[in-house]
Amino acid sequence: MSDLNKIELQFKDKIKGFLNQNSYNTWIKPLKIVLIDNEKISFQVPSKIHIDYIRGQYKSVFENTLKEILGNENPVIKFLIDSDTDFNFENKPVTETPLKKAKSSSKTRIAPYKETSLNPKYTFENFVMGNGNETAYVSSLQVAKNIKTTQYNPLLIFGGVGLGKTHLVSAIGNYVFDSDPNINILYLTSDIFVQQIVNHIHHKTIDNYKSYLNTKDLIIIDDIQFFAKKEKSMEELFHIFNYIYYNGGQIVLTSDFHPNEIHELDERLKSRFKMGLITDVRPPDLETRAAIIRLKAEEINFNMEDDIVMFIANNINTNVRDLEGAVKKLYFHYSHLNKEIGINKAKEILKELITSKKSTLNIDKIQDIVSDFFSIPKDLLMKKTRTKEVADARAVAMYLCTTQLKATTTSIGVHFGGREHSTVSHAANKIQKKLNSKDPETTKMIEEILNVINLSTC
Ligand code: ADP
Ligand code: MG
Repeated sequence: MSDLNKIELQFKDKIKGFLNQNSYNTWIKPLKIVLIDNEKISFQVPSKIHIDYIRGQYKSVFENTLKEILGNENPVIKFLIDSDTDFNFENKPVTETPLKKAKSSSKTRIAPYKETSLNPKYTFENFVMGNGNETAYVSSLQVAKNIKTTQYNPLLIFGGVGLGKTHLVSAIGNYVFDSDPNINILYLTSDIFVQQIVNHIHHKTIDNYKSYLNTKDLIIIDDIQFFAKKEKSMEELFHIFNYIYYNGGQIVLTSDFHPNEIHELDERLKSRFKMGLITDVRPPDLETRAAIIRLKAEEINFNMEDDIVMFIANNINTNVRDLEGAVKKLYFHYSHLNKEIGINKAKEILKELITSKKSTLNIDKIQDIVSDFFSIPKDLLMKKTRTKEVADARAVAMYLCTTQLKATTTSIGVHFGGREHSTVSHAANKIQKKLNSKDPETTKMIEEILNVINLSTC
């Protein structure tokens, strides 16, 4: 291990003690120390937002930790953005800075709240920040707090459905609305936006529409993946974006996918999007799921026991909308029965919901999980290797495939390197027998793997 690596390890180890696991994973884990030169220490970071966030939140922790490790009184900390990961700022031309004209100072709010089209129930306060959404949350808050000066323009949040994109971008709008009465805000879904553009083109009033948009300081457009294929309006859209951008307006967007993955989206629009900040939301981890469930129950004054919270968190890991659905379903039963729901009742009520969420479990996934569990390369499950460890893992994987999936033993055999169906049955029976005889080691192992399967299926 090189000296730099050793110092990096030491640094991360020390700094871990100051942060919670989520923050550590998001902000510190991806860092690399790439150079130490006299008093200067250079970190490679994945994106500009890492630099801003670390400078804002962890400056003194960084300085003190480095002082301790390197013995330097005043270490100079440099950050270099890793161009491979910083898709956020790629193509950003140095000369292209928006005019940031102080539009709002000359006018008072012309649109009442209703005209913003925002949903008031989405705020930063009722959004649980956790693993998977931390960067998106922090960038959104930064945009909301620095609406006229932010560099994150446009801010684009992408990620799967039900993971909080609409919530976060609406929270920006609500925050700004509450904090500055001079700022005019507009929230639109992209289909409405496109529809309006089409109508204005048709009525030859597109310039009026642009002028109208120019009265807005913050424009939020939700679900831009629907721009794709709208060729006629894309051209206009591009000009409108430029218009807003160069007039100092902030644009905030959401999408189900990274712009690069939206085929048939105008290339110029893609690069326009990339000039700001692109950040994603990913499914929350167990801890975050539990916190979200607690919050959602609290919001409706539903007192939920901890074992039920953990049962839902362990069994639903698709997205937040599904977590909310489970809370609401239990609450519905609770308010109808008018009595407390225990864990067994909760399991019964949620049975269907949970089964339907498991539908994507497949042979490949089981092989992944089992090889991880046994710490052996996955491909050995398919090969002829007969060492005890591999053979055991293979038998467990075959047992799980036969009991957890509707697949036939013939098709399972095919996925294990073309083995006979009788081999699959034999292996599965062997495990089943051990379980029947309550062999403690096998019982515990299968239980643990099933837990992992529950957590990772969606
Ligand atoms: P998306 O736009 O990504 O499809 P939404 O923003 O509509 O997802 O979120 C779906 C539901 O989940 C909303 O009711 C939202 O309030 C809730 N939600 C999502 N993420 C969180 C979170 N981290 N904390 C609290 N609620 C959340
Ligand atoms: Mg949405």
